[in-house]
Amino acid sequence: MRLGVDLGGTKIEAVILDEGGDVLWRQRVPTPQRDYNATLKAIAQLVEEGKYFAGICASTTIGIGTPGAEDKQGRMKNCNSTALNGRYLRTDLSSLLKCSISIANDANCFALAETLGGQGKKSLSCHSNERPVGDVLNVVFGVILGTGVGGGVVVDGKLLNGPNAITGEWGHNLMPLQARAMAGEKEEERQCYCGRINCVETFLSGPGLALSYQQCFGEKLIPEEIIGHMRNIESERQESAELIWGEYMQQLAAALAQVVNILDPSLIVLGGGLSAVPEIYRDIVPLMKPHVFTDEFDTPILPALLGDSAGVYGAAWLVDGIT
Ligand SMILES: [Zn+2]
Repeated sequence: MRLGVDLGGTKIEAVILDEGGDVLWRQRVPTPQRDYNATLKAIAQLVEEGKYFAGICASTTIGIGTPGAEDKQGRMKNCNSTALNGRYLRTDLSSLLKCSISIANDANCFALAETLGGQGKKSLSCHSNERPVGDVLNVVFGVILGTGVGGGVVVDGKLLNGPNAITGEWGHNLMPLQARAMAGEKEEERQCYCGRINCVETFLSGPGLALSYQQCFGEKLIPEEIIGHMRNIESERQESAELIWGEYMQQLAAALAQVVNILDPSLIVLGGGLSAVPEIYRDIVPLMKPHVFTDEFDTPILPALLGDSAGVYGAAWLVDGIT
């Protein structure tokens, strides 16, 4: 069994998985807003409830998925649930629950869950020329295309964690100049919340796509509206939406190709709101080919299978199984 907790901005969810990855127990509660101690208590209560249900002893390790990451001193940083920032979440939870805690951000949990229980698991049976170690793919790059853009790298079924806790953070790479020049107002820089300019996230997130449309056509549309117009040949905005979507795809292709040239993953799996657009999977590989340093590029790029559950499953897979 594995016990994982996904600490989100609006809900805290806990799950216990069996060795095969099936759910034995699952529970969610609202996240107490702007109250760190109440958040700790809510997590502790869920964990105790799960342990009681499954008869797990007190000394087990628990996996936690969080919005941000730990800094080198063990304090939380980059959390959009700001009550967590600067707090020693792992230490505090460990004292409260009297057990060790394994922590990873939500994009990393997503990548791990899709590798072990989602597209990675499914792909093993479909791609006989892969070189699996045990029963997992060599290298999987998990991508989030949502309100933000994140990523995680899984090697031989384990998350890659660098010394700065930023592995997979391609959303804050610089968008390649050639792809950037396609976007709306050609001269305008895009300020990222991280303090840098023209990060991949400022183009490929949902708000980034909306901004591209607005900068080009002066109208504020949400991503769903842009995609709806793009598909609707009767819409008077069809041509403009198709143009912006075409630019988005070129930018996605150029940005992903940079990751491929470094990691050469066996699989790229996309999650987050924009990953649900099927046209991505029809068009992305040919668009990437000119940017990738090989003539024969056919790496599978696939949509996530686990949906909203990936975060909490990934948290559970952070830890070794409890027997
Ligand atoms: Zn940034």
